[in-house]
Amino acid sequence: MTTPILSKTLRITVSRLTEDGETFRGLLAPSILELSQDEMIRDLEPVSYDLRCALLSEGALVQGTAQVRFCGTCDRCLGAVPTEVAADVSHFIRELEEELDLLEQLREDLLIAFPSKSLCDNDCKGLCGTCGVNLNQKACDCIPIVDTAGAWSGLDGLDL
Ligand SMILES: [Zn+2]
Ligand SMILES: [Zn+2]
Repeated sequence: MTTPILSKTLRITVSRLTEDGETFRGLLAPSILELSQDEMIRDLEPVSYDLRCALLSEGALVQGTAQVRFCGTCDRCLGAVPTEVAADVSHFIRELEEELDLLEQLREDLLIAFPSKSLCDNDCKGLCGTCGVNLNQKACDCIPIVDTAGAWSGLDGLDL
């Protein structure tokens, strides 16, 4: 396997741009997302982007997509959840300098597109609150706490 060269910057020289627009595609190092402290996200892959940049009279128009894949964590059972995030990128940049630095915008567009919850399966049974066993894999003998109906229906509402 060859390791692709991963950039940690996304800068576009404005003088190269035309009114018709140019396409920029590439891979960015996963570290640009600054998620290494997030224990719910593992195996973050490189960020891919496919952007079209056009120079217009009042600024630069940047449109396209950015994608990243990783192994997320199930909110209920803590199991692995393969996840792919795809974000639409659309910005009009008025204050033009020599270079357009798009890294921060791309990062924000992607992070906003991250799922707020993550489930290995919509029917995931989760972990037993008493003994911690993964109820998807086996049942346990714990006595269910009787007075949970209200609490569970509340959680069901959140899961919608
Ligand atoms: Zn699960
Ligand atoms: Zn149990």
